[in-house]
Amino acid sequence: MEKRDYYEVLGVSKTATPSDIKKAYREKALKYHPDRNPDDATAEEKFKEAAEAYEVLSNEEKRSRYDRLGHAGMSGFGSGHMNMEDIFSQFGSIFEDIGFGGFGRGFSGGFSSRSGRPIQKGSNIRIKVKLTLEEIAKGVEKNIKVQKFVKCNTCHGSGAKDSNAIKTCATCNGQGYVVKTQQSIFGHMQVQSQCSACHGSGKTITEKCTACSGNGVVKGEDITSIRIPAGVSDGMQFAMRGKGNAAPNNGENGDLLILIQEEKHPIFERDGNNLYLEHYISFSQAALGDNIEIPTLEGKAKVKITAGTQPSTLLRLNGKGLPDIQGYGKGDLIVNINVWVPKSLSKEEKKIVEQIANSENFKPQPPKQASFFQRVKHFFE
Ligand SMILES: [Zn+2]
Ligand SMILES: [Zn+2]
Repeated sequence: MEKRDYYEVLGVSKTATPSDIKKAYREKALKYHPDRNPDDATAEEKFKEAAEAYEVLSNEEKRSRYDRLGHAGMSGFGSGHMNMEDIFSQFGSIFEDIGFGGFGRGFSGGFSSRSGRPIQKGSNIRIKVKLTLEEIAKGVEKNIKVQKFVKCNTCHGSGAKDSNAIKTCATCNGQGYVVKTQQSIFGHMQVQSQCSACHGSGKTITEKCTACSGNGVVKGEDITSIRIPAGVSDGMQFAMRGKGNAAPNNGENGDLLILIQEEKHPIFERDGNNLYLEHYISFSQAALGDNIEIPTLEGKAKVKITAGTQPSTLLRLNGKGLPDIQGYGKGDLIVNINVWVPKSLSKEEKKIVEQIANSENFKPQPPKQASFFQRVKHFFE
């Protein structure tokens, strides 16, 4: 689905002040809050969309980056991966001034208002993955060892010594939450909050598992296979749901967040999906013409050098760049052909060069073509 413009999401103009943005977000958050729209599945999406827009537009640095580059400039800035906890942590500063602190606490405290199910979540793990341009060109599968909390095998995550040591929580009758009626700006509201006696598990443990001290999780490691698509770039971030730390009490696993780092290539420079290469030919190849081979990411490409090729001639090899991550074709390889001038000459070579030095053909001529910068500009049009 096409990502909507953040200003459009909040319904403000591009020149909106920080307080306009805050006000607009507050309205959207109230309108689409999941607690207020229990039967509307799209409300939660809109709620998250507004939170993401606010997260960017309320931050001066992120906003100016977004203004210049749009959504494309935001990859790697952590936007687009907001979970409910992140969103509710935003709420503190947004709603405190209207006495809104308690709102949604039942939700953020670990319950989905729709199901009432505990969603205690394991924490996320961030890792960096270094890739070469060759790996980026083809896409790559990496097996990565991740140190993390895993479910305790002894108690299968329950934290109890055995099944006899697990009792139903008397405070919440095993529900994991208690419901209170609260006065809020919407009038009377039923607010769920996590049961403080059992921390939402609905169970009381009378004797703890000794292997995990009752946590249900232990330190361990896991080899995770990560499939990275072709065309990624430095700074992009991917989330693998459920591959982060295991949560206590058999809760939901955290996510594994993968940050892409691109290694510098010895000969190619990257600009978006295009690659740049400096390539030297000899003086005689430039003067006489030749068929040469130029390195590409996949191997080599044959290129014809015409007689009389000048230094700084740009050649474009269509489709020899990087694949677009969205699958829209491939970039090009742009080669700057330079002419190598020997740094030293033998006596014999000197004689030959001196013989031809006075020829009319060897005298530099004023450029008949446009300046270098005009040529580069023209090249890209
Ligand atoms: Zn255990
Ligand atoms: Zn309880």
